[in-house]
Amino acid sequence: MVKLTFYGGVGEIGGNKILLEDNKGKLLLDFGYPYSKYRDFYEEYLKPRPGAGLLDLLVMGLLPHLEGIYRGDLEAENLWQQFRQSEHYRKLEDIDGILLTHAHLDHSGHISFLKEDVPVYSTATTAFIAKAVQDSGRPAFDQQVCYFTSRVEECLEGWKQGAYVTSSREDHQRRFCVADKHELSEEAKKFWEKTTRKKKLDLQLLEDIDKCSFNLRYFPVDHSIPGACSWGIETSSGWVIYSGDLRLHGRHGKLTESMIEEAARLHPRALILEGTNVDKKANISEHEVYGNGFKAINDARGLVIADFPPRDINRLLTFLQIARDTKRKLVILPKDAYLLKTMRLLEPEIPDIAREDAIAIYQKTTASKSPDSWLRSIYQDYSSKIVLAKDISSNQGGFILCFSFWDLNELPSIQPRAGSLYVFSSSEPHNEEQEMDFWRLHHWLEHFQLRAYGLPVYRNGKWEIPEEEKGLHASGHACGPDLLRIVREIQPELLIPVHSEKPEFYADNLSDSGINVMLPTEYGSVDV
Ligand SMILES: [Zn+2]
Repeated sequence: MVKLTFYGGVGEIGGNKILLEDNKGKLLLDFGYPYSKYRDFYEEYLKPRPGAGLLDLLVMGLLPHLEGIYRGDLEAENLWQQFRQSEHYRKLEDIDGILLTHAHLDHSGHISFLKEDVPVYSTATTAFIAKAVQDSGRPAFDQQVCYFTSRVEECLEGWKQGAYVTSSREDHQRRFCVADKHELSEEAKKFWEKTTRKKKLDLQLLEDIDKCSFNLRYFPVDHSIPGACSWGIETSSGWVIYSGDLRLHGRHGKLTESMIEEAARLHPRALILEGTNVDKKANISEHEVYGNGFKAINDARGLVIADFPPRDINRLLTFLQIARDTKRKLVILPKDAYLLKTMRLLEPEIPDIAREDAIAIYQKTTASKSPDSWLRSIYQDYSSKIVLAKDISSNQGGFILCFSFWDLNELPSIQPRAGSLYVFSSSEPHNEEQEMDFWRLHHWLEHFQLRAYGLPVYRNGKWEIPEEEKGLHASGHACGPDLLRIVREIQPELLIPVHSEKPEFYADNLSDSGINVMLPTEYGSVDV
């Protein structure tokens, strides 16, 4: 008998943490960062205390009470004593691995807390993106998906509760087992081996996936980050398919179509499927984003600022094409350049920044004199591509600048001319904090007299994109009718919706299908 237990991703978008148990072993299906649960308690300046290790996360219900799966260096002595009576406490050892679907943190982030010897199964692209994101991100203790520095315990004298100070550190790299690429170029190997620290890693090269005790299948799918896949697990009850996040309307929708066909051929016992956009009736395609973006930017006079989601390489390539076709240069941030450079190690069709005339890289005005090694490598490799605020300021009609809300504090150095264009190619605000940021964004645009296009405005109590400016964002998630088609074509015996605020959509719309829809509960188990 196979048992699935849902520790996250139930009734919420993201934070997927699913445990699959069979007589063959135990697997985790994603181990994501639960953004909405964090927001209930924390914000930018109020965070779980890194010095308290796992304590804050366990007490506040952000991590499941599963003794035995987490990093020992984050567990103070006797940490578990207080949780052993809790309702959902379990001792859990010998996890065979984590099946990671893609490198968005709401699926991968809490891998940071898992024991280093639990292998992470993914595509090579997901492994590489996860590392590029960690290399170029802020060094946060809950964003150490690929490597981490262990804390060596040294209790403060007289201290009773379980926190510690760090006296020495050791770097560790997680074991990633990749499902797709086995041969890496020397350059790709070098990237994987190198950390941003001076100290060498306790090196784990990418391994082969065949070592897993389960028979696994991976199916590449299209999503708003490259390298995404669904997983198939052969269990004693039959095949279980776990979708991760996916869509049919993106640039690589054919991948998702092939997944549907192949998964259907396995006649799966169960399908665990996302439902982010069950409410949406139709999609905007990436091709339409190109058309609408081109129209808006082709007529623009001064500077164009393009705001789109980070790590959405497809969107970046869409704006690159618009830049070429409107005879502007696309100015990307060093982080984007690092990601492109990393992806090119595995996917040669990604443009080579050094040879791409229409790409430049923005160096922030107050950049540090001793940048981190990843940033130094970007400045060195692409020195002729670097542009500064003054270069943009003096030739405003020559650029599309890829900035988001978080980069607007550069504008006082650029001083965009009145009437310059701000193209918004992302999603509407989903919570109060994001709404506040949208107000601020509107104030920035008013201050510099920029024209907005595709930007949600607050009308009749909600944020909405003006009707005539819609069509600048292709979601990473399939819409309701596409999701129903996916279920009907795969025809599992059992459908389990996750990653959705409205999972009952499936039960309401599949009553005639012969498919049993099972709505999971948080911490609840389902026998499959
Ligand atoms: Zn995602």
